[in-house]
Amino acid sequence: QDAALQRVLGLLNSDGGEARVAGGAVRNALMGHPINDADIATTLVPQEVIARAGAAGIRAVPTGIEHGTVTLVVNGRPFEVTTLRHDAETDGRRAVVVFGTDWQEDANRRDLTINGLYADAEGHVIDLVGGLDDIRTKTVRFIGNADERIAEDYLRILRFFRFFAWYGGGRPDPDGMRACARGRPGLKTLSAERVWSELKKLLAAPDPGRALLWMRQIGVLTDILPESEKWGIDAIPALVDCEQSLGWTPDPLLRLAAIVPPDAERLAAMAERLRLSKAEAGFFRQWALAPAIPEEVTDAVFARLLYRHGAPGIAVRLRLALASARAEARAKDAAMLRAARLSSLLKLAERFERPRFPLTGADVLKAGVPAGPRVGQVLERLESQWVEMNFSLSREKLLERLEKHAAEPG
Ligand code: ATP
Ligand code: MG
Repeated sequence: QDAALQRVLGLLNSDGGEARVAGGAVRNALMGHPINDADIATTLVPQEVIARAGAAGIRAVPTGIEHGTVTLVVNGRPFEVTTLRHDAETDGRRAVVVFGTDWQEDANRRDLTINGLYADAEGHVIDLVGGLDDIRTKTVRFIGNADERIAEDYLRILRFFRFFAWYGGGRPDPDGMRACARGRPGLKTLSAERVWSELKKLLAAPDPGRALLWMRQIGVLTDILPESEKWGIDAIPALVDCEQSLGWTPDPLLRLAAIVPPDAERLAAMAERLRLSKAEAGFFRQWALAPAIPEEVTDAVFARLLYRHGAPGIAVRLRLALASARAEARAKDAAMLRAARLSSLLKLAERFERPRFPLTGADVLKAGVPAGPRVGQVLERLESQWVEMNFSLSREKLLERLEKHAAEPG
């Protein structure tokens, strides 16, 4: 139905060329997530893609020609068309890629099974890596040997957790987690730009709390963000709750602020280390320099604070304080409910008089059950029924039930 996409696929899917939608768009379509832009993989080399686009009057921009990527613009929409590749050599930071025509090899060099699927122009999914099963079970898993894949590109450690945050269910794949833990030392070889860009995408997940906890557990979070070491990651759920119930726009920077201390010097060092943009660094600086809001501040005093220090930094402080106050209030509400319940249970316990079970072994024998282990079993069964019904069965009712039990074959 997507005319622009069909046009691009049609252009490449002829005269010996093959093209398929690859990666994120296939994953998101299958998982029911919104699709940004469809990336396309093709057996044609970039020159041929450019030539075909030219002949069809489609604008072609060589956005990453050295990796085989040409962006075609149709109806104002960009389609990244990338020639099939496989890895030749790697230095652990950047793969040296070679163009190819083998779909299996192109799939094998992708990072995760859920990212390794293709769809043809008719919408048929081509699964060369077991990604369909993993999409069904929301399992984020490396393609091939996890340790080897990580050693080829240590950013994949962070991508593992990013995609888990967005698409994973339950707990992260234990095999992948162990490989990430083993690969940790390689993180320091990554460029700051790649780390920050990946961390930001992780922080933009609907609820990044779980992924961050696992990252902290295996030490990866501390490796890339030592500032977060002492900070309670409960702050993230508190913030996500405000986003959901107060309609705040999810903001990766605010979420990051929730797990690092408002210490101007450390934040400046963090901004420097991760190469934050000027605007991003400014966000943290304004926050760190904003004064704490006194408990009982009058509107006039508060207006003075806003005037002197600027609203943006103070607003960050207020948002974080509000999120944690709401979490505290909720915890207090839950504790109050629990206290009320405990107090009514205590009354029950104090008033409790243990009732006496109205039947005995003699009744069972009289009903015709032969002496032996079955007598005790029948008695126990009836006693459980009596307890389950809150002791409401009378001796008469119990005798009726006993007769039925006695009639049953042993
Ligand atoms: P998003 O919707 O977040 O853009 P995406 O799947 O498109 O998700 P990208 O980071 O844009 O993710 O990458 C596009 C595809 O390229 C991925 O689906 C994956 O197949 C492959 N890929 C990207 N980065 C790597 C990497 N570091 N190692 C291996 N494969 C990668
Ligand atoms: Mg993408």
